[in-house]
Amino acid sequence: MSNTPQISVVVPVYNEMANLEVLYDALSATMQGVGRSYEVVFVDDGSSDSSFEVIKRLHDKDKRVRGYSFSRNFGHQTALFAGLSQSRGDLIISMDGDMQHPPEMIPELIAKYEEGYDIVNTKRIDAASTGWFKRLTSHWYYKMLNALSDVPIEPAAADFRLMNRKAVDALNSLPEAHRFTRGLVGWMGFRQAIVPYQAAARHAGSSKYTFFKMLRFGLDGIVSFSVKPLRIAFYTGFMVSIGALLYAVYAVVQHFTGSTVEGWTSILVSVLFIGGVTLLSLGVIGEYIARIFNEVRRRPMYFFKDQVGEEKSTEQ
Ligand code: UDP
Ligand code: MG
Repeated sequence: MSNTPQISVVVPVYNEMANLEVLYDALSATMQGVGRSYEVVFVDDGSSDSSFEVIKRLHDKDKRVRGYSFSRNFGHQTALFAGLSQSRGDLIISMDGDMQHPPEMIPELIAKYEEGYDIVNTKRIDAASTGWFKRLTSHWYYKMLNALSDVPIEPAAADFRLMNRKAVDALNSLPEAHRFTRGLVGWMGFRQAIVPYQAAARHAGSSKYTFFKMLRFGLDGIVSFSVKPLRIAFYTGFMVSIGALLYAVYAVVQHFTGSTVEGWTSILVSVLFIGGVTLLSLGVIGEYIARIFNEVRRRPMYFFKDQVGEEKSTEQ
């Protein structure tokens, strides 16, 4: 307990070898100014480049750097969770490893915290450095997510935030394996503040969120925080059935009045439409069942294959 740091900076890392030293230097400079003891916890999310070698090197020259390496790529949110679980500080700051979350903002987050908050979130102010596609999809996605879910989620929220020990322990105690952190944090409550930040361009490399990872992440957010898609599927099915019933009555009447050959188009259209709605609804239901399946297996969320730096003591 004696030498636990006051601040932990948690950084999930996936193929960021060209960014880590720059980030480390920027963090060191900022933390020097903050004047409190700190540690940096890197979680290497199964990188295929030498990110973990860089982390080890940083640890060799500065013991405040601790590093964990996943046995494979488990995903950004899982890496973030692992880092939060291993953090030891009283104040925990999570940020990306690509310099898009400016380290020089840290004093501002701490100042906000000292006004009496438990959690200080950040919100990206879009600059030209954020691609138009990301801006557009992110904007509409959060609008939709907020319409669907009861938990308010700030648009352009980032996983760049400061939490105190109480909030991190609460977050870590949530049992789900699918973690959409920004939603969970919103759901938790506590006293929360939001600070805007200007997103910088990535220092090196390209986004590790491929289009499909982004889609997956988006779907995770919706399915974890709302059961409305199930209801929408039900209501759509219901409306379509009523329409189909009315149409059936019409078809029978047509049969008895003798004009039954026509109607190929309407049959085709309604069959396709009903087929489409059915498949969509099945997909929605499947998504929830997949989640239940994932959660009931109770598999560990990740494995470490390597680590450097002092262990988190378990008696804390
Ligand atoms: N990341 C990760 N695992 C992944 C994808 C990304 O740990 O599977 C990390 C990545 O190294 C970075 C952060 O998550 O520190 C955010 O990723 P990225 O910058 O690629 O996303 P973007 O900023 O483009 O949304
Ligand atoms: Mg980034």
